[in-house]
Amino acid sequence: MSAATFGTEFAPVMATTGFDGVGWTEVQLTPSDSLELHPATHALHYGSSCFEGLKAHRQPDGSVVAFRQSRHVARLRSSAEGLCLPQPPTELVDDLLDQLIASTAELTPDPPGSLYLRPTLIGTDTSIGAAAHPSRTALLYALACPVGDYLPAGELTIAVETSRPRTTPQFGRIKTGANYAMALATIERARTLHDADQVLFAADGILQETGASNVVLLDEHALLTPALDNSFLHGVTRDSLLQLAPTLGIGVTERPITVEELVDWISRPDAEVALVGTAAVLAPVGTIVVDGRRHNVGTAGFNRVIERLRHTLIAVQTGDQPFVFDEAR
Ligand SMILES: *Cc1c(COP(=O)(O)O)cnc(C)c1O
Repeated sequence: MSAATFGTEFAPVMATTGFDGVGWTEVQLTPSDSLELHPATHALHYGSSCFEGLKAHRQPDGSVVAFRQSRHVARLRSSAEGLCLPQPPTELVDDLLDQLIASTAELTPDPPGSLYLRPTLIGTDTSIGAAAHPSRTALLYALACPVGDYLPAGELTIAVETSRPRTTPQFGRIKTGANYAMALATIERARTLHDADQVLFAADGILQETGASNVVLLDEHALLTPALDNSFLHGVTRDSLLQLAPTLGIGVTERPITVEELVDWISRPDAEVALVGTAAVLAPVGTIVVDGRRHNVGTAGFNRVIERLRHTLIAVQTGDQPFVFDEAR
């Protein structure tokens, strides 16, 4: 398969398992082009849905291996818990992903392409009277998308938002569509007002993340990123970069970062800023809008450190460079 627009081309099969209130069914492989749901399905009315996004990469020996799958499975389970959804057992989600990867392995593009996997968990109780009750039943299905080396064309423009929140503290670490829905009007407004691609949320002037990715500040010797708290999603890409950067002589710091510090940081010639997440790995930011004022990021504009980190992380993902991540962090 060729590389289409990210997320629009799907492998013909998906993997599914269901929970009937008592137990989970065996994993099934079914056609990926439709899903039969009762119109009263809990997730459609009351937002009981969460998902993951991870990539599987073809290795030098031809096998296809998902990157840090255990982290993504653990996060899916904690998202489920936060949404009061039935939690699929770790071994079951692993089995679901392994079967999906095995059945779509030959559709996985060679590096820098990969197979993007999208496990999705939805509450399936059929009662529109269940607004104040969790769904007792659930469906877990995973789609697979053959993808190319997805990188937005050119540098991104992001607008800093200090008053409207991205989401609530109890949902900050949950990967749920509700968070995207909540951020959307703010992103649309920034697009209209500032021609921005994304919004960097910074409630009370402290950086959190954008609507869909974590943020890192860089120069040749340093990586600075907000310290983990309940306001933003704890990205696997973020964690991977924090572990890899020191091997390139880049010192890492996790701490609260103010908007003023961000403006100071990007005024230096060698400053770089990247949005980080599974889909794009690292995407360079060229312009940051603060209070309606546009600031260029650095003056060199080469994004050299971003390129190095991106190259290194992809080399690890594709098995071209050995690296063992600390999964206990
Ligand atoms: C998925 C996601 C990220 C990135 O997480 P990764 O594990 O690196 O892919 C960051 N922020 C939000 C809001 C997300 O949904």
